[in-house]
Amino acid sequence: MRVLYVTSEVYPLVKTGGLADVSAALPAALKGIGIDVRVLMPGYPAVMKGMRDLQDVGPVITGLPGGGEAQLRRGFLPDKVPAYVLDAPSLFDRAGNPYLAPGGKDWPDNAVRFAALAWVAVNFVGKVPADPSWCPDILHGHDWQAGLVPAYLKLLPEQFGGAKPPGTVMTIHNIAYQGNFSAELLKQLKLPDRAMKTDGVEYYGQISFLKGGCYFSDRVTTVSPTYALEIQTPEYGTGLDGLLRSRSETLSGILNGVDYSVWDPATDRALPANYSADKMAGKAVCKAGLQATFGLEQKPDAPIACIVSRLTSHKGLDLVLDVIGDWIKAGGQLVVLGSGDSASETGFRYLHGWHPGSVGIRIGYDEPLSHRIQAGSDIILVPSRAEPCGLTQLYGLKYGTPPLVRRTGGLADTVVDANLSAVKSGTATGFQFTNPSSQELLWALRRAMALYRKPDVWRTIQRNGMLADFSWTDPAREYAALYKDIMP
Ligand code: ADP
Repeated sequence: MRVLYVTSEVYPLVKTGGLADVSAALPAALKGIGIDVRVLMPGYPAVMKGMRDLQDVGPVITGLPGGGEAQLRRGFLPDKVPAYVLDAPSLFDRAGNPYLAPGGKDWPDNAVRFAALAWVAVNFVGKVPADPSWCPDILHGHDWQAGLVPAYLKLLPEQFGGAKPPGTVMTIHNIAYQGNFSAELLKQLKLPDRAMKTDGVEYYGQISFLKGGCYFSDRVTTVSPTYALEIQTPEYGTGLDGLLRSRSETLSGILNGVDYSVWDPATDRALPANYSADKMAGKAVCKAGLQATFGLEQKPDAPIACIVSRLTSHKGLDLVLDVIGDWIKAGGQLVVLGSGDSASETGFRYLHGWHPGSVGIRIGYDEPLSHRIQAGSDIILVPSRAEPCGLTQLYGLKYGTPPLVRRTGGLADTVVDANLSAVKSGTATGFQFTNPSSQELLWALRRAMALYRKPDVWRTIQRNGMLADFSWTDPAREYAALYKDIMP
């Protein structure tokens, strides 16, 4: 079975969030179970630099959406998964964030940039194939950046797919990002007029890449079972809930996994000391190191709550700002690594100013530091208003840093709340609260603080999480079964 995996980011080459982690680990896991999977991604500068053995594939591709041209190249990702990159300097050779120009606004030509990615993907099954030596059975697109893949395939059957068109899967990693653009771009994007319908890519008068992906693909998946249900409701569906309800038979949630070759405190080279569920001494070393890094008071008994997150409103960090004073007053500390909304950044900076010995803030993106924070902290806060799967809580579990989460999406599916019966039966792995309210977060923080002060109970909670298995083996098999269902 041959699968073309179309994505806009892959760790460690380019990463703005969880999609990059998934796009590194899932193809590797699929390869591990015998699937011939190849990744297709944009040739950002970091990708052109980080890929191994890049070779040209075929002649220069001209007439891309927007009129540009590109050279397709083939090489290998750092973990040896074969990958194609779209070497199109006019579209992708830009420093900084893949989606945002300096100053934080979207690149003005994002529509043609990612339409070009999708166009090249469908050209793998075109009359003049992008790679004459390899023809995929399945086109698997991720998020809005790959949303036009199934749309082109179904809308232009005379150009793509031939007698046996490939099966198509659209995976939603976050429905809040939809890739909506002016309807005036229709021709530039090489979409036919008939695409601009409710039964098409039209979304409130605009072109929506994600809607196109959800409407035209054979299967829609998202990254946790609970989120698959949530996005069929008006509260979470951001206008696509009706379409997704109508597709409920072909919509499923497959939980993301963790790449334990990258995220394991027993082997993690970013840490000052390693540890495991049976040998925890190294965690105290990591904690002391973290307190030193952030200039916090060196108190082994002060529980450190941490946040490693994009600072955007759906992450619910305003709730933390509302009530974290109570945690600090009770002897807790807080470490924050993140960047995003200036309001959140300012809020956390103020908090640090008021409690410099108890609150440490790092605004920015720092991969090794994110590992050291997971290891050195006692609890990780993920109070998201919506969370498709969430990865940081899974890393927290593995690092003996129980997650405190809002009961939504993948957070609901992966954390066992330390309520009375779970504590009694010794099955708890963290803390949950239900409604996105500061008061509920406060109660959960107080419960966590109370159990932290009971070392035996805390140790069991930590251990349960560290031993829980969220590897990619099962999810990869679920994707393989889904591919099998839609093989041409
Ligand atoms: P999302 O995809 O919504 O950002 P996830 O929890 O699924 O949320 O994935 C976030 C990923 O990004 C995790 O690997 C997390 O460690 C990482 N991350 C988030 N913010 C930062 C940061 N400031 N520095 C380093 N890593 C970060």
